[in-house]
Amino acid sequence: MENTVNKPKILIIYTGGTIGMVETPDGLQPFDFSHLMDNVPKVGQLGYDIQSVQFPHPIDSSNMNPSYWNQIVKDIADNYDEYDGFVVLHGTDTMAYTASALSFMLRNLRKPVVITGSQLPIGDTREDGTENLISALEVAAAKDENGDPMIQEVVISFQDYIVRGCRSTKFTSTGFEAFRSFNYPALGTIDLHIEYAKPYLMRHDDHLPLDPFYSMDPNILVMWLYPGITEDVVKAQLATPGIKAVILRTFGAGNAPTEQWFLSALSDAVSRGLIIYNVTQCLNGGDEQKRYYTGDMLSKAGVITGYDITVEAAVTKMMFLLGSGLSTDQIKQYLTTSIVGEITVE
Ligand code: ASP
Repeated sequence: MENTVNKPKILIIYTGGTIGMVETPDGLQPFDFSHLMDNVPKVGQLGYDIQSVQFPHPIDSSNMNPSYWNQIVKDIADNYDEYDGFVVLHGTDTMAYTASALSFMLRNLRKPVVITGSQLPIGDTREDGTENLISALEVAAAKDENGDPMIQEVVISFQDYIVRGCRSTKFTSTGFEAFRSFNYPALGTIDLHIEYAKPYLMRHDDHLPLDPFYSMDPNILVMWLYPGITEDVVKAQLATPGIKAVILRTFGAGNAPTEQWFLSALSDAVSRGLIIYNVTQCLNGGDEQKRYYTGDMLSKAGVITGYDITVEAAVTKMMFLLGSGLSTDQIKQYLTTSIVGEITVE
């Protein structure tokens, strides 16, 4: 019988994405997990104890939504004690949203959840999936000098970098190096060796049990500003039925027009109970809402600063807070506090 004692025990959760896709007359489509594993016999050479679960119908990640996030969270929660780490195989298109969502939903996570995928399907001649999968498995199995998991949070491991999940962004649709963390250092680099940037890794001084969260509230709106945006367009968006919060994509250091109709539309929305969260359109840097007059006017209209949060983290943090049964004042407080390392608050 095979000796599995002391072998890292990793659960792979296959959700779909290019990594496991096959060419069909209608374009690339997700395929099942056995096809994927048949094409990566090298995984066996790692000597790990690897098990897997898969979505009943693997998806292109453009179809990702909160009920699929619940499924991933449940797969991890149901198997949490049994495994050393988790590798989530996922399409790249919405990977940064899922990485952010899981960071909030897997409360008290103390084990590695490593998300990866690829730009070309495993099995293609010039593909990146094999390398990404093998690296992700190694990252999920890595221990620190105390024998604790090296990674104790949700990360994306892709090509040459390991980045914090709630800081990640997909920034190219063609390059193999598809993900970046623009406002927080990479947690590790993958080349001949996998090196970890230890001062930046999440560490916990407790062993609280995992507390999975399943109630994301998607009643939000992302409003992207541009020069020339009209009063009708702004007002129509702010009047969207059912929404409770708006992610306002502002210019530069969190700036927006100061025309009276615009500021009044925002402050009216705030007084109707909408939460408005300022998230810059820039990938690098963040809001300094008080730096310019144009930003300060937003503070006066009741808009909350998002500091250097990514839009992916802002969207999922808002869904998480709205689903948590908190008061509007409590939500506003959490929006300017780092919960899982998603923002830098000086
Ligand atoms: N459309 C694919 C997906 O996100 C792209 C990829 O995996 O790279 O599922």
